[in-house]
Amino acid sequence: CGVVGIWGAADAAAMTALGLHALQHRGQEAAGIVSHDDERFYQHKGLGLVGDVFSDARVIGALKGHSAIGHNRYATTGATLLRNVQPLYADFEFGGLAVAHNGNLTNAATLRQALVKRGCLFQSTTDTEVFVHLIAISLYATVLDRLIDAAKQVKGAYSVVALTPTDLIGLRDPLGVRPLILGRFSEGGWMLASETCALDIVGAEYVRDIEPGELVVINGDGVRSLKPFADPHPRFCVFEYIYFARPDSILEGHSVYEARKQIGVELARESGVEADVVVPVPDSGVPSAMGFAVASGIPFEMGIIRNHYVGRTFIEPTDQIRNLGVRMKHSANRPALEGKRVVLVDDSIVRGTTSRKIVDMVRAAGATEVHMRISSPPTKHPCFYGIDTPEESQLLAATHTLEQMAEAIGVDSLAFISFDGLYRALGHRGREEANGRYCDACFTGDYPIELVDKEGKLVA
Ligand code: 5GP
Ligand code: SF4
Ligand code: MG
Repeated sequence: CGVVGIWGAADAAAMTALGLHALQHRGQEAAGIVSHDDERFYQHKGLGLVGDVFSDARVIGALKGHSAIGHNRYATTGATLLRNVQPLYADFEFGGLAVAHNGNLTNAATLRQALVKRGCLFQSTTDTEVFVHLIAISLYATVLDRLIDAAKQVKGAYSVVALTPTDLIGLRDPLGVRPLILGRFSEGGWMLASETCALDIVGAEYVRDIEPGELVVINGDGVRSLKPFADPHPRFCVFEYIYFARPDSILEGHSVYEARKQIGVELARESGVEADVVVPVPDSGVPSAMGFAVASGIPFEMGIIRNHYVGRTFIEPTDQIRNLGVRMKHSANRPALEGKRVVLVDDSIVRGTTSRKIVDMVRAAGATEVHMRISSPPTKHPCFYGIDTPEESQLLAATHTLEQMAEAIGVDSLAFISFDGLYRALGHRGREEANGRYCDACFTGDYPIELVDKEGKLVA
């Protein structure tokens, strides 16, 4: 998901909508904005893309005030229903509160069961609502203390933005698995967002990343930082660099684009192959393919063309639509492929369905050899922290050896980046040295946060 928060700026809701638009890649199922104008809250939510949900200027115009938060939904917990669309808003005795959350809680089902037993009436099936109920029943007096109280009970990955009548609040889990960035407007006012590309679109200046385990309270007095957790310990999601974040974002001080390009360089060094052209699977494979081409000296060609008017195939819900989506999305550019030995570069192999189709397409266009190079290690385990990886049985790398995978997707050779190569690309000496600073559980099975609800996805 993508989150945005604005405090103290004219047209806060419009700015939030623009920020969400820049973060559209983080979630395409639904979008919502809650604003506040010193008197009351306003909200609008809908299913679909930001541009569709907020296409009517009157809708944005009705979201009054100088503060707002917004959310793009990418479902990891809860079905695609309007009542699951964030931000969630609740009226408490101490005033209203809106909450939007990127990530996934690993003890949401367990907490929810206990809360339901205590009489809490849930209105959605999202894990975010667990947060809201924990705040509601907390015995602390202030909203801030209640939020901290709630945060200490949840486990998992969360970057949260929350809005009260007076404050914009930002909070990152103690491991900082998902990103959260602080920005400011030159004419006054503050912004929180999942990625720096959301700051860029509205001309906000980057201030810093919110730290793992940090809570910031933003209001007329500026930004107050609290560290409610005893032992914050950074484990940023390495897959944000590989695939999820937008290439023009800077996360934790690294350019996502440069990281991807450098992975391609490492990949060429580790798994070079004699070939005539390097072809990215667009868009996610492009920066790594460029790095691969530069390092190997093999020309870069756009051998596959992407239709931009379909969303990311992976995010659509059923297998049938996913299959259909791939054909709608990519086509072969015959002149760049015919009679050529092709190195195809992509970011990951999940189920293998995209890869198989693309390889078939490239061969049908006349490629004489197809070598696949992947800018992530093999995806062998599901993510429980906010990326919608399928369960293990559906992951090609979990059930196949490298040779079997190559055969399944129909390539002449297949190689993945090594862990050392990946972490070298991120500026470390190798995995050993980088270890403990990132989450790479979907590749290693080393889950840094307890999986309380255990085995499989959280079903609410
Ligand atoms: P596959 O065909 O192997 O199931 O899917 C791999 C493709 O899905 C890659 O091109 C990758 O860019 C794309 N993809 C889209 N969303 C995701 C995601 O959330 N996780 C992973 N690992 N790949 C994704
Ligand atoms: Fe990121 Fe993978 Fe960890 Fe999930 S399991 S947070 S996708 S590195
Ligand atoms: Mg892709």
